[in-house]
Amino acid sequence: MSTTVGMVTTAAAGAYGRAADLDAYLGAPADPAGRMPLVLTLERDHDRVFPAEAVAALDAWGLPRHYVPEAFGGGLRDVFELLLLMRTVAARDLTVAVGHGKTVLGAISAWAAADDSAAHMARIVGAGEAVSWGLTEKDRGSDLAASQTGAVATGGGIRLDGHKWPIGNATRGRAITVLARTEDKPGPRALSLVLVDKTEVDPATLAYRARRPLHGIRGADISGIDFAGTIVSADRRVGAPGQGIEIVLKSLQVTRTLCAALSLGAGDQALAYLAAAGVDAAVIARGAADLLLAEAVAFAGARLFHVAPGEMALTSAFVKVLVPDLVDGVIRDGSPALGVSALLEDGPSAAWEKVARDAKVVSIFDGNSVVNLNVVINEL
Ligand SMILES: Cc1cc2nc3c(=O)[nH]c(=O)nc-3n(C[C@H](O)[C@H](O)[C@H](O)COP(=O)(O)OP(=O)(O)OC[C@H]3O[C@@H](n4cnc5c(N)ncnc54)[C@H](O)[C@@H]3O)c2cc1C
Repeated sequence: MSTTVGMVTTAAAGAYGRAADLDAYLGAPADPAGRMPLVLTLERDHDRVFPAEAVAALDAWGLPRHYVPEAFGGGLRDVFELLLLMRTVAARDLTVAVGHGKTVLGAISAWAAADDSAAHMARIVGAGEAVSWGLTEKDRGSDLAASQTGAVATGGGIRLDGHKWPIGNATRGRAITVLARTEDKPGPRALSLVLVDKTEVDPATLAYRARRPLHGIRGADISGIDFAGTIVSADRRVGAPGQGIEIVLKSLQVTRTLCAALSLGAGDQALAYLAAAGVDAAVIARGAADLLLAEAVAFAGARLFHVAPGEMALTSAFVKVLVPDLVDGVIRDGSPALGVSALLEDGPSAAWEKVARDAKVVSIFDGNSVVNLNVVINEL
């Protein structure tokens, strides 16, 4: 027992240290010479432009290395550390955190499958290239088992036909892990995962669905991709045939926990703005208490992944429901205290107005709150 506690304490100290390194590297948001200055963050958001400079800065710091588990040659050994790193980015801009961090989601199925796909995935992610996670299809939403995109074995390869939408980095990403139907029968074993590396396929078989104007994370590439006879080699399968839903459900246990980093970063922003605006101390105190509660839930979730992985189906669903909801509450309660400026895009609370819009997306992706409450009911 004491050994476990000692290991956990050492790992946590290292995690805080690396997050502090990233924080110092990025600099203060208020500093125009910093690597993620607020002034540029707001400009990119207003213009709905992808925050390429910030993403490049994160690549230069070496964040992609932290997306690849040690077992596959990277630096990821602790979900808690990744949570802190992503929170550090989200505390400056959720668009950047989503735009960069989506690769964690895109790659995670390969780590869970732990087969030959992981080595290829590690090369892509290690090179700082974006990977998408293609689960959702238009009009099928959370019902992943109803996916219609087909992946049919053909002469030594796999042929994909269909689409995925809406998908983070579908257009700008180098690769996408696609959940596709490999058998024409109902049930979860009819779906498999396939890695489409765009550098390996005929580009004429790919088409893109344009980004739609979003209320939050306005600069992010949330678009779609169509496959028309796209051929990938047989070894681009991720996991065994029919294992698609199983691997996705395992992967979601990690990604749902990590989504908390986005909400915690949004909460950090919100509290800082409330304090800077000098609103009623009671509003700040309530917000701080709720953010601490959210942090406790998220930290427990990240730690449990290492000490009680068998509980993660339930734990990750709790984290994914509670943390965004608590942070949405901080923002909802803080807005009236800021008055009309909370609604003005070009006013003194412009950053508040942005984070209020951005934070709302967290409760929608990776299984929305109702879907996760449904998971809780099923588990209980
Ligand atoms: C910004 C953004 C980025 C995204 N990025 C990605 C991505 O990278 N990859 C990807 O695959 N997808 C992505 N998505 C899609 C996202 O995961 C879906 O929006 C999500 O799966 C929910 O689908 P839906 O919004 O169509 O709602 P639906 O699932 O169609 O739900 C409609 C309604 O039914 C309810 N409902 C659904 N299922 C249940 C249930 N089991 N029990 C009770 N009620 C239920 C919902 O709560 C909701 O009210 C993204 C979405 C957004 C907004």
